[in-house]
Amino acid sequence: MTITIIGIGLIGGSLAISLKENGFADRVIGVDVSRDNLDKAIRRRIIDEDQTLEEGIAAADIIVLSTPVDVMLKLLPSVLDKVNQQVVMDVGSTKAQLLSAVKNHPNRGRFVATHPMAGTEFSGPEAAIPGLFDGKCTVLIDENDSDEDAIAKVKALYESIPMRIVELESEEHDIHTAYVSHISHISSFALALTVLAKEENESRIFELASGGFSSTVRLAKSSPDMWIPIFRQNRDNVLDVLDEHINQLARFRSLLIKKDFDTFYRLIQDANSIKRILS
Ligand code: NAP
Repeated sequence: MTITIIGIGLIGGSLAISLKENGFADRVIGVDVSRDNLDKAIRRRIIDEDQTLEEGIAAADIIVLSTPVDVMLKLLPSVLDKVNQQVVMDVGSTKAQLLSAVKNHPNRGRFVATHPMAGTEFSGPEAAIPGLFDGKCTVLIDENDSDEDAIAKVKALYESIPMRIVELESEEHDIHTAYVSHISHISSFALALTVLAKEENESRIFELASGGFSSTVRLAKSSPDMWIPIFRQNRDNVLDVLDEHINQLARFRSLLIKKDFDTFYRLIQDANSIKRILS
């Protein structure tokens, strides 16, 4: 199987590593705007070769779009213009706008929308790692709009890793990811800014940063090039979740002002019940 990956960064690169290692891909072709990223990917043997967009599409059985989500809005229709039997899939973090951009495309059936729920705070091919997706969950979105053979190929790709497959509609997907992924990034960016604003002595932050602070603020290292397009596309859902989050913060603030530590205690116990879901 020949796989062409457009956007050979963290996610595209990690997928290439997994699919080469497990034998699903005999050949991986990289397409990227950045010559530097392609050279790095070749040096790390993440891809076998790089080609132009047109060559990469013509040579592929499966084409994977792994650019930031704003780029995908223009890229996907132009890739679908050029395919015959090939399957096209994406790995982007938002879906409603992308799917409406190709709703009436004559080759819509060749496209399968997906979102592997795995990642790190780092970017680029240097951040690509083996095993990133192992045992994690991936979402297939609006499956009924894709051809059966295209869905079968994409499921085989993910099952080869192996990943667990969940099926969702695009609107549902964007609401759920606002909760489980997008808000935690805003929260982490805000926490980093809070500490940076209050603590002017950066070396002290570094010395005192313990496990708790480091793990909560880890996502604040994520790239704005990837996240601004996500917030732009999922703005309404993220605003809903953010309003709820601000209400929760305000509750804690008010309990501290009132010195009501009994209620504070119960709120922490309520929060502890997240263990039921995540353990
Ligand atoms: P990344 O590491 O920044 O990789 C994106 C790559 O796409 C970069 O090499 C970038 O080059 C390249 N690119 C940009 N515009 C392009 C174009 N027009 N044509 C070809 N290549 C282009 O980002 P990532 O974290 O892998 O994210 C990729 C996708 O996966 C995004 O849609 C994101 O929403 C999704 N995703 C991310 C995560 C996560 O945790 N990071 C998890 C699941 C899904 P430059 O560096 O030169 O811009």
